[in-house]
Amino acid sequence: MEVIKGVLKNRYSSQRDFQEIISQIMNDSDVRDFVTQYQKVLTDDIIKNSYSQFLEYIDEKKRVSETGYSSNRGFVPKLKFCQTYVEVAYVPTDAFLKKQARQKIKDRIQTLEMPEDIKNYTFEDVEGTKERLEAFAYLVDFCDAEDSTDKKGAYLYGSYGVGKTYLFGALASELAQKGVSSYLAHFPSLVVSLKSAIADNSVVQKINFIKESQVLLLDDIGGESLTPWVRDDILMVILDYRMRYNLPTFFTSNLTFEQLEEHFKGTTIEDERKAKRLMERVRALSVPIRVGGENRRK
Ligand code: ADP
Ligand code: MG
Repeated sequence: MEVIKGVLKNRYSSQRDFQEIISQIMNDSDVRDFVTQYQKVLTDDIIKNSYSQFLEYIDEKKRVSETGYSSNRGFVPKLKFCQTYVEVAYVPTDAFLKKQARQKIKDRIQTLEMPEDIKNYTFEDVEGTKERLEAFAYLVDFCDAEDSTDKKGAYLYGSYGVGKTYLFGALASELAQKGVSSYLAHFPSLVVSLKSAIADNSVVQKINFIKESQVLLLDDIGGESLTPWVRDDILMVILDYRMRYNLPTFFTSNLTFEQLEEHFKGTTIEDERKAKRLMERVRALSVPIRVGGENRRK
C-alpha cells in the first residue's frame, strides 16, 4: 500500500491531488459497479492495493473513447477480480476478432507470383458472362461439393485477359472459406524459382510441398520455357503424384490440350513419348473448359 501510495504521489504531487484522484477512481461508474459486484470479497485492503490498477483502467478507457484504441491495439481494458487482487485484463474487440478470422481464412491460400489482390476475389464479384459461364459453373460446383477433394479439377484455357486467373483467385478464396487450403502458382515463375532452388538443394523440398498441397492451381501452364528437366523432373513428378493420390489440380493456359502436348514435345521419339505420358496426367486430373470473351486487360 505504501508503495502504491508512493507511485501515485509521485504522479500527483500533493496530498490534495492524491485524495482527488482516489475520489475520481471511486466515483468512476465502472469501478463502482465492479466494487458492488464483488462487495462480498473485495476487502478495503484489496481496494486500496488496487488503486493503480483502477487508475490504469480509467486511463485506458479514456484513451479508447478519445482515440478509438487502448495502448494495446485491438483490445479493450476490463477489470478482473483474481481472488486476492484486481487486474486490468485486455480483451479483444469484435473488430479485432473479425480481422483475425479473416486473416486465418486468407492464410489458407498460398501464392507464388500471383496478383496482389487475388485473395480478395469472390464468386460474387465474377461477372458470369456467357463465354465464361461454363468454367464459372464448374468451379462453383466444385466448391459446393460435399467433399471437394473428390472431384476432378479443371483446365481453363483461352486467350490472354479473359479472366482465367481471376476465376482461380475466386475459387481459392471460396475454398478457404470452407476450410480448404490451396496453393496458387504462376507456373512460369515457379519454374524460375525452382531453377534457383538448385543452388541451395531445396528443389525436392519445394516440389514435395507443391505436390502435396490440398488443392493445387497452376496458372499459365505452357507459358514457361520448357526444358526436359521442367517436363520430366518437375511437372511429371508433381502431376503423377497428384493423379495417384487423387488430389484436385487446376490449370490455366493459353493453349488447348493439343497445343500443350505440342509444347511438351521435343525433337526425339523419346521426347514425344514423355510428352504423351505427361498429357495423360493433365487429362486425368482436369476437365478442359474454354474461357472466352473480350480482353479485360486494357
Ligand atoms: P487471364 O488470366 O485470362 O489472362 P485475368 O484473370 O488476369 O485474365 O483478367 C484480366 C484482367 O481483368 C485482370 O486485371 C482482372 O483483374 C480483370 N478481371 C477478370 N475477371 C474479372 C471480373 N470478373 N471482375 C472484375 N475484373 C476482372
Ligand atoms: Mg492469367
